[in-house]
Amino acid sequence: MSENAEEAPVVEEKKKPEKPQRKRKKEKGVFALYKIENDKAVRLRPTCERCGPGYFMADHGDRYTCGHCGFTRYKPVENRE
Ligand SMILES: [Zn+2]
Repeated sequence: MSENAEEAPVVEEKKKPEKPQRKRKKEKGVFALYKIENDKAVRLRPTCERCGPGYFMADHGDRYTCGHCGFTRYKPVENRE
């Protein structure tokens, strides 16, 4: 490094703590509900027993709930994450 005639005051920039970037919620389309296996669409979520096929239940960890009618079904213990 060469010496500068004009000594610029060294301003130490305080590093701002990086803002944690907002994690965008992964958009889950209907694609997330199906898995293609052997050219067949396999449903990954159970459908509501009350509302019938077409009404998927939301995964809530240890249980599934239907957003349509509020029906809740607990997962079998061995399937819990
Ligand atoms: Zn339902």
